[in-house]
Amino acid sequence: MALLTFCSSAQEKLLSPAEFLGYEPGDRFTLHQRTMDYFNHVAKVMPNAKVFPYGETYEGRRLFYLVITSEENFMKLEQIRVDNLRRTGLQEGRPSPEKTAIVWLSYNVHGNEASSMEASMLTLYDLARPDNQRSKAWLKNTVVIIDPCINPDARDRYASFYNQYGNMPPNSRADAFEHREPWPGGRTNHYFFDLNRDWAWTTQIESQQRIKVYNQWLPHVHVDFHEQGFNNPYYFAPAAEPMHEVISPWQREFQVMIGKNNAKHFDEKGWLYFTKEVFDLFYPSYGDTYPTYSGAIGMTYEQAGGGMGGLSITTQTGDPLTLKDRITHHYTSGLSTIEISSKHADQLVDEFEKYFRENNNNPAAEYKTYVIKASNHPDRLRQLTAWMDAHAIRYGHPASSKTSRGYNYQTQSVTPLNIQTDDIIVNVYQPKSRFITTVFEPTSDLSDSLTYDITAWNLLYAYNLDAAALTERINVGKPWQHKEPAAVVASKPYAYIFRYQGLEDVMFLSALMQSDVKVRAAKRTFAVDGQTFSPGSLIVTRTNNESLYNFDELVVSLAKEMKRPIYTASTGFVEQGKDLGSGDLNYIKAPEIAVLFGEQTSSSSGEIWHFFEQQIHYPVTLIGTDYFADVDLRRYDVLIVPDGSYKLFDDVMLERLSNWVSNGGRLILISNALNSFVDKKWFDLRRYASDEEKHRAELLEKEQQEKEGFPRYDEMERKMVSENIPGAIYKVPLDNSHPLAFGMRDTYYTLKTEEERFAFLGDGWNVAYFEDQVKPVQGFAGFKANVAIANSLLFGVEPKGEGRVVYLVDNPLFRSFWENGKMIFSNAVFMVGQ
Ligand SMILES: [Zn+2]
Repeated sequence: MALLTFCSSAQEKLLSPAEFLGYEPGDRFTLHQRTMDYFNHVAKVMPNAKVFPYGETYEGRRLFYLVITSEENFMKLEQIRVDNLRRTGLQEGRPSPEKTAIVWLSYNVHGNEASSMEASMLTLYDLARPDNQRSKAWLKNTVVIIDPCINPDARDRYASFYNQYGNMPPNSRADAFEHREPWPGGRTNHYFFDLNRDWAWTTQIESQQRIKVYNQWLPHVHVDFHEQGFNNPYYFAPAAEPMHEVISPWQREFQVMIGKNNAKHFDEKGWLYFTKEVFDLFYPSYGDTYPTYSGAIGMTYEQAGGGMGGLSITTQTGDPLTLKDRITHHYTSGLSTIEISSKHADQLVDEFEKYFRENNNNPAAEYKTYVIKASNHPDRLRQLTAWMDAHAIRYGHPASSKTSRGYNYQTQSVTPLNIQTDDIIVNVYQPKSRFITTVFEPTSDLSDSLTYDITAWNLLYAYNLDAAALTERINVGKPWQHKEPAAVVASKPYAYIFRYQGLEDVMFLSALMQSDVKVRAAKRTFAVDGQTFSPGSLIVTRTNNESLYNFDELVVSLAKEMKRPIYTASTGFVEQGKDLGSGDLNYIKAPEIAVLFGEQTSSSSGEIWHFFEQQIHYPVTLIGTDYFADVDLRRYDVLIVPDGSYKLFDDVMLERLSNWVSNGGRLILISNALNSFVDKKWFDLRRYASDEEKHRAELLEKEQQEKEGFPRYDEMERKMVSENIPGAIYKVPLDNSHPLAFGMRDTYYTLKTEEERFAFLGDGWNVAYFEDQVKPVQGFAGFKANVAIANSLLFGVEPKGEGRVVYLVDNPLFRSFWENGKMIFSNAVFMVGQ
């Protein structure tokens, strides 16, 4: 007996998912931990598989991927990885002549598209089974990387819900509670971010940690497994138009080859599928495009199911769709992808190498060099270079200064340009060439206006930089050197002064407030001790802070820790502007902040939550829409109403809020939240400023309709597009003398995703607005939408009694990557109405 036990543990047998879990895959939803246990089991038992942990989620779940290949390849796995990077040029040296395909399968980026993590276990088992000659043959020339769950927090949120409420046996009626996930649903991560929109911006820790390991491998094929509405057939490559023009002919070609191979397997079973529709390759931050712009054949596969799928649901044809079906389809397409990749491994590797050879030596992009001026704020440059580092983008200073011409991002025109030796040069003669082009190019050629997502995202506008795109090649001559401004600290000054120009300064303000340091903000420009300071500059006087233990040390060490340049004033008597003791300097009371949260808010409430908690580290109270009416608002200084579709703002509530604002409250309304407050007697927000204006708009629309005539039925979709702004960048004037725009430039680039129009405020400040002629500087917008938003409000402030209402028509925290928007939002919270 003892001997038997000894034998079984020494030669542990590979178990199937069913044997390991104790139930057939598809009988129930497996939690993330159990899936991880299974992957560890396979890695432990098999000599040719290994688990690589790569981090943790916000809720503390482990992130990991598993690598499996032939035993022979497994022995030289590191060699294969390094050889691959040598083919890209990211690593020095010559690769060995051996050609091994690398296929990366990513599952469950959307947590409630729940079949794919289950499918990952079956796929792994199939690859690991020693008696499986078919997969053994594939692994001879193929390395397979499996990330069973990109988004475990969301996957467990969904699975826990279903496991709690699912009928036993499952109820297939869509009406059943088990098919209706509660808010916020299981799609997004802890902070409600869509991780399939975050690959390029990497605002979330899951993406940050994954991008790091992804770029250490750079696979040749990447599949992102999804689910869609439960009535749809399966979707696989080739993708739909628009496809970005940087996509190579080979990438297009191999998508078709993969698609045909998948089709062969699906045809055998008679399963329905579609290709070339809906899922395009344009926006660079998806799990298909990011890999594509990094040399892979990047693809999305979509099974029917999603959050309503449950264990079984009745589809429109009356047939059941079961979790088992869904798993089987994803399992089949995954293996089919490995099969075809293995079959063409040599060609895959050759073409991969060619892609990078073109990138490094002969990029096709029109713009060869991006120049980012050294005169930009040092914090912005540091942020942008850190972002480039994360994506293995190379940059540096030019060897010498020179003059050139280029597309100027501030004027949107081609102008002469003096390139200085301290400017930053990013040219496209490098491995990440095509990715750089998709993110920085001034215009993107959109082959089809019907895209799945936003049509512009340029980071140079997001950061609002002085930058230019050149058709000329300029090389990097020396590595980038960040200049940290020197801190000169006089001992025991009359006051400390800090510039207020970006998010780091907001973070610093947050830290000061939480250390109980009392801070004032300048309303106007002033000069003291030979230095000039802009509106918004933070002033910390000795007076009012005497009671703090070690006041000077506290302020100075905080500033140094957060890399804030310290200025001091030896006197309150200024050379220009108002004296430091003047009542004209606003004391900034640390606000008590409430954020509306729950059912009626959209996922953008998560962006706000993330902003305070993870970015500026300032406490907020999230208040559910279901009990908001019972909350005593007098405890709060600021109430933020995120994008959402609200039922709670009836007349009683609007009047209550109006009174709260009049008594000193600051109400911040974002995007769709404005619709609950427009044309109501308690607020100044109007759709049209007057009946006349409304009448004119209606006439204009009628005129347009008459010009166009009746649309054909098959043109309906396109006609709708003319009314849409799917996401484009507009340039607007910004009144930076107003606290809402403190620390910013006098123009602002807004990422517009809303077509709603609102009139200029009659009794308030129109801090940013659309002028007469409206056209995006980048991206697509329907011509009717452009007409509709002409002469309308973007950001405004309505003074009301002691308080303020801040209207933000576009969500400035959209996906948390629009750096400039964060400043508008911060000002709304900390500067307006103080
Ligand atoms: Zn999805």
